[in-house]
Parts: sequence; C-alpha cells; structure tokens
Amino acid sequence: MAAFQPSVRTNRDSSFVSRSPFSLGLLFACTMHIMPLTVQKFGGTSVANAEKIHRAARRAIRAHKAGHRVVIVVSAMGDTTDQLLALAHEVSSNPPKRELDVLLTTGEQVSIALMAMAINDAGCEAISLTAGQLGLVTDSVHTRARIRRIERQRLERELAAGKIVIIAGFQGIDDSGEITTLGRGASDTTAAALAAVLQADVCEIYTDVDGVYTADPRLVPDARKIDRISYDEMLELASAGAGVMHGRAIEFAMRFNVPMQVRSALTDAPGTMIVAPTEGMEAVAVRGVSLREDLAVVRLTGVPNVPGLAATVFAALAEKNIIVDDIIQNLYQNAESAILGFVVSSEDAAIARELADRLARDHEMGAVEFSEKVSKVSAVGVGMRSHSGVAATMFQALAREDINILAISTSEIVIGCVVPRQDGPRALAAVHAAFGLGDAVNENAASI
Ligand code: ADP
Ligand code: ASP
Ligand code: MG
Repeated sequence: MAAFQPSVRTNRDSSFVSRSPFSLGLLFACTMHIMPLTVQKFGGTSVANAEKIHRAARRAIRAHKAGHRVVIVVSAMGDTTDQLLALAHEVSSNPPKRELDVLLTTGEQVSIALMAMAINDAGCEAISLTAGQLGLVTDSVHTRARIRRIERQRLERELAAGKIVIIAGFQGIDDSGEITTLGRGASDTTAAALAAVLQADVCEIYTDVDGVYTADPRLVPDARKIDRISYDEMLELASAGAGVMHGRAIEFAMRFNVPMQVRSALTDAPGTMIVAPTEGMEAVAVRGVSLREDLAVVRLTGVPNVPGLAATVFAALAEKNIIVDDIIQNLYQNAESAILGFVVSSEDAAIARELADRLARDHEMGAVEFSEKVSKVSAVGVGMRSHSGVAATMFQALAREDINILAISTSEIVIGCVVPRQDGPRALAAVHAAFGLGDAVNENAASI
C-alpha cells in the first residue's frame, strides 16, 4: 500500500484541458468533473457467457444514461483462470511465474473485448483497455504484484469523449513492460485502485451473491446479509478467508475513502455498503466469521533462546516474499530453547519449509515440524473493542464441538483459532451460531 501513488495531477494538468484553456474543452472538462463517476466491477460468474455479458453491459449503459461517467472492470469469464492454470500445470511441472502471468492475463483480455462489443452493440460507445494500454504500473513480483501507480491521461481522455471505459482486472505492467498479475481474486483491487485514483463516487462490486454475509453462505446456510460493514471489518474478514472481496481492494478503498458496494449482478437489491465506521457499529461484538483453509504451520523446535534469531527467521521469509499469517512464539521448552511457529499460506508452504530446514541446520535448532492440514476460523467485529467475553464465547463454542485449538491469535477486532483442517467447517458453523449471527432477531450480528 505504501508504494501506491495515486496520480496527483489535477484536471487542469491533463492534456485535453491544458492544450485549450479557454476553449469548449475547458467547459466540457468542468462538466465532466462534476458528473458522478462510478466504477463497476463484474466478477467471473457475472460475465460467464454472452447473455451475462449483455446483462452487465445493460447495467453499465443504464448508469451512463443516468449521467454517470462509467469505468468497468471485468474478470475472466467463469472459471477461465482456473482452467488456464490447470493447463499450465499440464504442460509444465513448474511453470515460470512470468509465463503464468502472460497466460492468465489473456482471460481478462477476452472479457474486456467482448464487453466493449456488447456495449457498442447496444448503441453506446465503449473502449477496452489492458493494463499496458492504460498504464497500470506494478512492481515486478510475478503472480502477486502490487500496484505502484495508475496513469490517468488515457482514462480521462476516453471518459471525456463520453465513452464507457472497460479495464482488464487482475493485471498490470511493470516499469520494463513485463506483464504482471495482482493475485487471485484481485480484479476487485483493480476496481478499488481505479476508483481511488479517479475519486469515484462509488465502486460497485457485482458478484454471484447479493452482498457480504455473516459467513460464506455456501458453508453456513443460515448466514445473513450484512447491510453495512466497516472497512476494517471487511478487510479482516477478507484476510481471514472471506473470498467475496480481495483484501487489498479494501485497503485502497479505506485509504482513499471510496465507498464500496457489494451487489448481485442479477438483481437490483441494494447489497452491502462497505464504509468508514459509523456510530452504533460497535453495538454488536461480532459482525461476521470466516474460514481460511489454505494454511500450513511450520514449527521450529529447540530454537536457542538468544536475541536476534526471530529476526533472522522472519527476515529470511520476507526476502522470499512469504507473508506470515500468524506467529506462535515464546513457547519455552526450558530456559535455553523455545519453539517458534508460524502460519503461512499453502502456496508458500513448500518454500517456507525448505527455508526452515536450512535455518534449523545453520543455527543448530531442533527438528522442524510441519503440518499442511490446518485451517483458521476467525471472528471479526469492531464491537470487540467494547465487549468482553468474546474470546470465551468462541473457545466455548469450539470446546462444545470437541474441536482442539492449535493456535490462537487476537488483535483489536479479530480472534482467530487455528484448528485441524477436517474440523474447519464445523468450527465455523459453531462460532457463527455462538454469536447468534444467523438469528433473525438481531440486525446482522448479536451482542454477547
Ligand atoms: P467473483 O467471481 O464475482 O469475484 P467470488 O467467487 O470471488 O466472485 O466471490 C463470491 C463468493 O464469495 C460467493 O459465491 C461466496 O460463496 C463467497 N463468500 C465467502 N465468504 C463470503 C461472505 N462472508 N459473504 C458473501 N460471500 C462470501
Ligand atoms: N480472474 C482472476 C482470478 O480468477 C481475477 C479475479 O477473478 O478477480 O483470480
Ligand atoms: Mg472475487
């Protein structure tokens, strides 16, 4: 996030205005500036076939006809990205990440072109742009690049010409012109970053559910739709596994104060607003719960109890761009040695394990223990700041189900428990029920 720089150019600096300061161009630009700007993002299922593309196109045209400047971000159709990934692994046992990026970005390129055709077909002007054409510049970390800047010139020019602009989600380009991707599910992040840079009035995320629920409705059938959720809560739910939104999208929205709305692509139901916290949000202790199933635990045993070793371990992980989810520390076996555990995503598990083996050898530690069979269930709510007993309620819910807690992590608005993988879904349902999240009586979540 820190590296992201929204373009600080004002309308005055952009080429179409500065070339003719006293012409109709200026008048038009001023009018454009006050026209509301909406970013609409359509996920894979929402553009899965021609009919759905037309439906999404109609929605964008409706906003355009209502006087909005409209930027659309699209994902690859249906499960194209999964299929391309599977193909890559059929062709190669270890596909180079650079080539994965070249391959996967084709999915979004198909969608933007088709969307532009659908809009043109309906009599409205539209133009599709890849990240390279737009100038969405990232760092060079293939498959998980981070956005550095977004050029506004082309976007503003096309919007000023009255076109609906369609941007390929999920992709970027680095300073040397290499194609990058932003991580699975990151079309949301493209949309939020564009909304931030363009100071959009709203960023609408159209998907296959009609909002953010108190838990993934596929896993917990009595989960309920949340009407309003704070940026912090959504960010924590997303990092804790709620796949409905990409976490980094929320970081952008929060930092640049862009209201986000998660809505169904099929209906006009209002969905969920993701906004700055408002008074009253703390009335409930837990807003929602999530499950992350893509985790692994690495435990270094017999770690000499000397200053600097934790720094060495985590510096080595950081150097390989491995994100550590939780750290389990200070479990002293005796005065001289400790156990240092950490939780990483399954994607990084093999490399984290290799590193841990090397560190254990180099620093004379004990055995390295490794488990890929863990999940984490998390409860999230800004109300935790002012409610006591949240942790106890959660632990009791797991105890009643006879589920063993392998590690616990807490922060101001999250409590997370690492549990055996096979117990994950049951743990999620139990915690959801313990906080009364499925109860119709309470709005969104119950206090304890
Ligand atoms: P898209 O392709 O539109 O980006 P995703 O599959 O990424 O859609 O996200 C939508 C899915 O997220 C839903 O189908 C739902 O199963 C899942 N999901 C996970 N957690 C939640 C939650 N708390 N609320 C709503 N949906 C959730
Ligand atoms: N198509 C990409 C993916 O499947 C990006 C996205 O859908 O947001 O991960
Ligand atoms: Mg998604």
